[in-house]
Amino acid sequence: MVRAYDYLIVGAGLYGAVFAHEATKRGKKCLVIDKRNHIAGNIYTENVEGINVHKYGAHIFHTSNKEVWDYVNSFVEFNRFTNSPVANYKGNLYNLPFNMNTFYQLWGVKTPQEAQAKIDEQRAEYAHITEPKNLEEQALVLGGKDIYEKLIKGYTEKQWGRPAKELPAFIIRRLPFRFTFDNNYFNDTYQGIPIGGYTKLVEKLLEGIEVRTKTNYFKYKAELDQLAHKIVYTGKIDEFFDYRFGKLEYRSLHFENELLDTPNYQGNAVVNYTEREVPYTRIIEHKHFEFGAQEKTYITREYPHELSKNDEPYYPVNDSINQALLAQYQELAQSQADIVFGGRLAEYKYYDMHQVIEKALRKVTQITE
Ligand code: FAD
Ligand code: UDP
Repeated sequence: MVRAYDYLIVGAGLYGAVFAHEATKRGKKCLVIDKRNHIAGNIYTENVEGINVHKYGAHIFHTSNKEVWDYVNSFVEFNRFTNSPVANYKGNLYNLPFNMNTFYQLWGVKTPQEAQAKIDEQRAEYAHITEPKNLEEQALVLGGKDIYEKLIKGYTEKQWGRPAKELPAFIIRRLPFRFTFDNNYFNDTYQGIPIGGYTKLVEKLLEGIEVRTKTNYFKYKAELDQLAHKIVYTGKIDEFFDYRFGKLEYRSLHFENELLDTPNYQGNAVVNYTEREVPYTRIIEHKHFEFGAQEKTYITREYPHELSKNDEPYYPVNDSINQALLAQYQELAQSQADIVFGGRLAEYKYYDMHQVIEKALRKVTQITE
């Protein structure tokens, strides 16, 4: 049988787009499909009144990998945006990540020595926890009670829909902790937002490649499988195997959007609401990602919830139950020689964009050379 394509790529998100671009560059013929009505997956941005709106949640590109940074910059220019979220807890504002500004706001301490002494005092109560078993223990060991209760517990329990005691410790290790007056959320060397939006980056990656949107792989599987020699699958791994061992859990988000007739709503791109009683986790004001000077502004409140039938899966819940289930699916995946499982959904990993790019670049090199 003649197969028209070398690769059928299921998913026009970042993984699929990088893979398609690189495979095409190496002379392979690719067909990219996506069930949504647009490309770019969760990094999709849409222009509303001149503002690039992050339709699936705030996305800030950051990496310490020069190769990845040079790679994305070869398609689109990045601006100098630095993520400096502010937390609102019961009407009081605190800088994030936890730094000298936060410590001053919490306790009035003014020097690193005073801050360290205060944190040591806060942590002392938990010194007996040598190996934190869950997120709550990890947070208490790292920063003590005040930080945990004001800035972590409420946000985390809303975000993940379960007690912090039932969450893996690694989630909180993502939050930097520092004794300088530096509100940069990330420690990475490079950071920014693509000028013109993330969709432009993916458009560039997919330039000259055949893309079919509104095409669900499972609906047309029999025909699609005949078209290509190999498949790169970036959808949910459990769905690929028809959920035969059960469903992997995800957290989903509901986005409530508002276009406001005011130039500046909250003075920052990201404001987190860290108390349990406020039902959303954060408000995004999109124009501030690009230093926008438009007359209007566009804001989005993010409400986390459990995934149900027609929701988009956003955050894998990598607790021990789901990891055990994943291992069963991974074993099946290994027996599929002509199928690559890549990206956040197919690998069921909490990857950032730079990690997805690294993985896709490595995979394409490995299998095409
Ligand atoms: P996706 O973007 O999910 O792409 C997968 C694609 O496959 C989707 O378009 C989907 O429609 C399609 N698909 C699935 N099933 C099928 C099917 N059956 N048929 C056809 N198509 C299918 N990363 C950062 O670096 N910085 C951030 O600030 C950041 N913030 C984030 C905020 C949120 C709310 C979320 C959810 C993620 C965030 N990320 C961030 C992570 C980032 O979104 C991911 O790393 C990246 O988008 C993953 O790309 P992907 O291609 O693996 O997955
Ligand atoms: N987190 C928190 N308070 C905050 C921000 C984050 O407790 O104000 C916790 C929460 O558990 C979250 C994790 O830190 O899931 C990682 O946060 P990050 O901002 O990296 O999450 P993402 O941007 O991926 O949603």
